[in-house]
Amino acid sequence: MTSWLDQAKKVAILTHSNPDGDAIGSSLALGLALRKRGLEANVVIPDGLPDFLRWLPGIEISTTFAYKKEKATGIVSEADLIFCLDFNDPDRLNDIEEIMFRSAAKKILIDHHEEPVDFADLTISETWRGSVGEMIYLLFEELFEDEILDRDIATCLYVAIMTDTGNFNYASSYPEIFHIVGNLMKYDIEKDRIYSRVYDSFSEDRMRLQGYCMLEKMVVLPTYHTGYISLTDEELKRFNHRKGDTEGFVNIPFAVKGVRFTALFVEKRDRIKISFRSRGSFPVNRIAADHYQGGGHINAAGGDSFLSMEETLSRFESLLPLYTKQLTDE
Ligand code: 5GP
Ligand code: MN
Repeated sequence: MTSWLDQAKKVAILTHSNPDGDAIGSSLALGLALRKRGLEANVVIPDGLPDFLRWLPGIEISTTFAYKKEKATGIVSEADLIFCLDFNDPDRLNDIEEIMFRSAAKKILIDHHEEPVDFADLTISETWRGSVGEMIYLLFEELFEDEILDRDIATCLYVAIMTDTGNFNYASSYPEIFHIVGNLMKYDIEKDRIYSRVYDSFSEDRMRLQGYCMLEKMVVLPTYHTGYISLTDEELKRFNHRKGDTEGFVNIPFAVKGVRFTALFVEKRDRIKISFRSRGSFPVNRIAADHYQGGGHINAAGGDSFLSMEETLSRFESLLPLYTKQLTDE
């Protein structure tokens, strides 16, 4: 990689559609660091930068394809080195996928999702890591002998790590992550303010929708240590739903004692999008792959159902007995 970087002038950093804190935080951190090294580095996002990430330092080096097609296309097609961060399948780039494949630039994938598609010239895949943010931190240690970190870059990396571990609630039970965070803290990042800017940023409608889910929509099945929530299009409309409003709802049932497996069913135009989460060893990616044409990680996965909401939920409940043993094992 070092020689590719030495030869490169223009670098494009790409991340997945519907980007989260890890996608944006690690991309901006890498972009800012490469700029400090004199490279013309730009971040390209397929779509929808969420409001809670717009304040991030370096956000001005990002271009959203959905809004600025020409500029984004130019960055990708003129790059002589392309980084792909935080996705395991190029189809998560949406329209940028084709533009990337047309480019002769060397491609480097840095990701922590399972079973990455083999499309890049170099793939760095570390599926046990909580975030790509950590991987970028470690890459900096390897690539740059002198200090490349500064307060802005450390803030971006911290957001990446914090958001992909649910503020250190999961995917973070190993010493190295705290060693990394400890080092980031040395750059005077405002840890508590960062938390607040990311997490205390909901609209009133979103909070009311959450309240409605908890009061009216959460189903808890103690026999199977399972809790789930479903939302129809009509319900979403009633709460003036905006993109991203249901983010995190899948975790709500975990707050109920004994729940280890959760699901969120959200009606979309042509399908029902399902998110699964688990605590412990129950592999939700298996459920997603075996029954919902999906996949993901052991504790976080997703898939689709093409039945009605009612049928989807009754089918889901009817699957649970198949997993009684795994769900009830301590
Ligand atoms: P989320 O529930 O946040 O949409 O997705 C959680 C994780 O599940 C994602 O990081 C991704 O790895 C995986 N995932 C979600 N939806 C799908 C899907 O439709 N197909 C596959 N293969 N993986 C998915
Ligand atoms: Mn990630």
